Amino acid sequence: MVTQLSGSMETIYNDVVKRNPGEAEFHQAVKEVLESVAPALVKYPEFVEARIIERICEPERQTIFRVPWQDDKGQMHVNRGIRVQFNSALGPYKGGIRFHPSVYLGIIKFLGFEQIFKNSLTGLPIGGGKGGSDFDPKGKSDSEVMRFCQSFMIELHRLIGEHTDVPAGDIGVGAREIGYMFGQYKRLTNRFEAGVLTGKGLLYGGSLARTQATGYGCTYFVEEMLKAKNNSFDGKKVVVSGSGNVAIYTLEKVVQLGGKVIAMSDSGGYVVDEKGFDFGTIKRLKEVERRRIKDYCDYHKHARYIEGGSIWDVPCDIAMPSATQNELTGKDAKELVKNGCIAVGEGANMPSTPEAIQVFLDAGVLFGPAKAANAGGVATSALEMQQNAGREAWEFAEVDAKLHQIMRNIYKTTSEAADEFGVPGNFVVGANIAGFIKVARVMMIHGLI
Ligand code: GLU
Repeated sequence: MVTQLSGSMETIYNDVVKRNPGEAEFHQAVKEVLESVAPALVKYPEFVEARIIERICEPERQTIFRVPWQDDKGQMHVNRGIRVQFNSALGPYKGGIRFHPSVYLGIIKFLGFEQIFKNSLTGLPIGGGKGGSDFDPKGKSDSEVMRFCQSFMIELHRLIGEHTDVPAGDIGVGAREIGYMFGQYKRLTNRFEAGVLTGKGLLYGGSLARTQATGYGCTYFVEEMLKAKNNSFDGKKVVVSGSGNVAIYTLEKVVQLGGKVIAMSDSGGYVVDEKGFDFGTIKRLKEVERRRIKDYCDYHKHARYIEGGSIWDVPCDIAMPSATQNELTGKDAKELVKNGCIAVGEGANMPSTPEAIQVFLDAGVLFGPAKAANAGGVATSALEMQQNAGREAWEFAEVDAKLHQIMRNIYKTTSEAADEFGVPGNFVVGANIAGFIKVARVMMIHGLI
């Protein structure tokens, strides 16, 4: 039965590749899910007949638009904007916006596809979507970023709404960009619709703990994996790649739980601080001054900067890839395993290549896949939507406690699905199946749409 289904999965996969040429990251994300969900189709054969897999792989709507803008010197530029509204079975499309020069349809589709299952796992009423642009905010002035965001929103505003599609941040989009986009949405629609964007500033409807949520959540998830093995963060050496929003708050929470972050990175290289990274310095450097990771060494003379190279060469107990997709290869995974790494929590989206995941699973490393481990960000976005709907503003501790409970639930759901479907400890399969079943069941209930 399973072999037969695998055969039909291959047909579906080949069809996805043919229909979406050149979109390698999207193919990769689809393949991983299709490889995982076969046992769920044995339990629910009605999904096969209803063509749920084929439907789930086809976005409900994809929009590509022109974003013209002018720089401070008056020079004109054109970028491309994208919003992929992937699946609205569980709620309004929900997912961030990424501004990065590497952005093209294949990246936004992989992110949107993953978001469907991640959002389902949170247990909250949110569908899956993603958007972005190949605009590079790096080195741009605030007014250039503002003009770009305003132009981007002139097109995006027709597609979104608090009950339709609720974007947020992702790489290159933080509180500043959300602020400019919210202002322009309000102006274009003449509506103060707080729930149309999440990740807002605290002065106009944002939620406390949203900034911290992805990093905190990922750390809570790893804590759960460790706890199940009677282990903890206490005294552990942790490597956190990246130095953006996810990495910064992973650092803070790891330290609070007794661990030590000994390496962090950016696109230029990585810094090793054997004494443990100082949260205050990193927060100031990256959030306030928008500087590079190597500047950390100006303040902590014992730390060393390695230009280029792989941060995964640094021996550690726990690895938390929190930079970007495919940043941790099979070779890196082998190095980590060789150096005694016992757990991995994916803070970024799809940071480990398929080869790397296989290495971790074969070696018995506790592996928290992105869909489960980094779901705390979007979950807290859903909490922000709840507060906006009730015109409420919850205390930090209240939001954090809810986030913590959501991450515990995600761990439980994921590990129970792995047990039920015969692959105990394989949280990749567990997360994919648990996320998938809920979406598929609701798609059945809604009929052929
Ligand atoms: N971009 C984040 C993610 O990858 C958050 C999305 C959101 O808050 O809507 O899940």
